[in-house]
Amino acid sequence: MTAPALATATGGRPRVIICGGGLAGLAAAKTLVDNGFEIELLEQRPILGGKVSAWKDADGDWIETGLHVFFGAYVEIYELMKELGIYNRILWKEHKLTYTLAGGERFSFRTTKLPSPLHLLPAVFENHYFSLPEKLTLGKSLFPMVFGNEQYMAEQDRYTYQEWHRRWGINERMLKKMFLPMTLSLKFMPPEEISAKVVLDVAGTFLREPHASRMGFLKGSPQEHLTQPLADYITNKGGRIRTNCNVKTLLLNEKRQIAGVELITGERIVGDYYLTALPIHKLQRVIPSELKEDPFFGNLDQFEGVPVVTVQMWFDRQISFIDNILFCPDGIIPVYADFGNTTPDYFLDQKAEMAQRRSRMEFVVAPARDIIGQSDEEIVGRVWEDVKSCFPNTAPRAKVTKAVVVRIPQSVFATKPGIDRLRPTQKTPVPNFFLAGGYTQQRFYDSMEGAVSSGRRAAAAILEAHRRQGALARG
Ligand SMILES: Cc1cc2nc3c(=O)[nH]c(=O)nc-3n(C[C@H](O)[C@H](O)[C@H](O)COP(=O)(O)OP(=O)(O)OC[C@H]3O[C@@H](n4cnc5c(N)ncnc54)[C@H](O)[C@@H]3O)c2cc1C
Repeated sequence: MTAPALATATGGRPRVIICGGGLAGLAAAKTLVDNGFEIELLEQRPILGGKVSAWKDADGDWIETGLHVFFGAYVEIYELMKELGIYNRILWKEHKLTYTLAGGERFSFRTTKLPSPLHLLPAVFENHYFSLPEKLTLGKSLFPMVFGNEQYMAEQDRYTYQEWHRRWGINERMLKKMFLPMTLSLKFMPPEEISAKVVLDVAGTFLREPHASRMGFLKGSPQEHLTQPLADYITNKGGRIRTNCNVKTLLLNEKRQIAGVELITGERIVGDYYLTALPIHKLQRVIPSELKEDPFFGNLDQFEGVPVVTVQMWFDRQISFIDNILFCPDGIIPVYADFGNTTPDYFLDQKAEMAQRRSRMEFVVAPARDIIGQSDEEIVGRVWEDVKSCFPNTAPRAKVTKAVVVRIPQSVFATKPGIDRLRPTQKTPVPNFFLAGGYTQQRFYDSMEGAVSSGRRAAAAILEAHRRQGALARG
């Protein structure tokens, strides 16, 4: 539903300057153009999409910033994709988590469509990797995960997940083999660093909602199947999107409201409202120091981004036959997938190759703090050793035909203990200034859903502020 926006005091359409062209900025822009606002979106890079961006290299292969999966628990990103007519680009996979271990061992957790908690029965009874006594240690912790109220969850933010796990006496092998790859894939942080609250929030959602842990992949690149359709929609509705626009700072007026945006080129851009949808480390730099006297903004300096590395490797033959996400507790590749199985569009341009399917894998390498500074050769070599160890029957015969390493020194915000209570709302104490991004308050942390949700909340806050201003002007 779209509603005509109120005009500004000067009679024109209200104008919003959006800094950042990731999913949060684009989702906000869509809601605003749908409501009749004029938007100008400023993106530093030549491409949109931020952490979900993808581009073609000189060989014509899509390179992704990171491996992205969609969870059944998400809501708002699907509403947005349905509005754009692109929801069918998601290919849902079997509801099963497969763990690949060194030496070729495997275990999995399968989930059925039965109502909660019966949907977990196969996961409990079919998994033979963990013994019954080991599973029972986990059993008693399920109660707080499923039934813990908001206050309980908030209180657990003082512990790391590892501390919480040990306080509940849950088995150590489960920590190393099951929860380590889980926390590394969620936020690229190991159990001894990540807040217990994040793991409990996610595990609780998976346990309560039978469909929540189901995963889907885009049928091809996020650029073609998500970011570009979103950008096209915005520009078709009159929105202006400018790439290669590096925001240097926000400018303040004498009332301590935002007066404009200054680019590193010196250009100044002015609007009625300002929305930053920047990664937290970039936001810290553009907020004027005067505003940081207010703890609402000052607290933002306590946030930091987590380093992560993505490796993509092409092979001369098929190594994995699993059409789904894969976890690995051993080595440096906690989560990965074989696009040769999961992502059919990547092979459309290479029909000859379809006769002989070849693996093309994307790996999340984490924790990356000590790895990110290593050379591409070293990183690829270590990943390759892990792959050979996990697929001893197929990988040793394969050849790596190409490998690409992408480094993200500050990716999602670090969900360390104590940070959750500092997450800001999208509405700030400055009446014409709004925030969006995974670090702002919403249920899904730094994820595609979190980004879209935060962008839509920020846009809703702007609509509300504008309505209130109109009401004030009318007396
Ligand atoms: C390796 C990896 C794997 C992931 N896997 C998943 C997954 O499986 N599922 C999931 O849901 N989520 C996943 N995520 C998280 C998800 O990608 C992010 O939470 C989401 O994309 C964040 O969107 P955003 O718009 O808030 O921020 P960003 O994507 O960071 O967008 C911010 C934008 O601001 C721009 N910018 C920065 N500085 C400036 C400046 N000075 N001026 C102008 N523009 C600027 C950036 O270039 C960027 O385009 C993953 C992330 C990574 C890194």
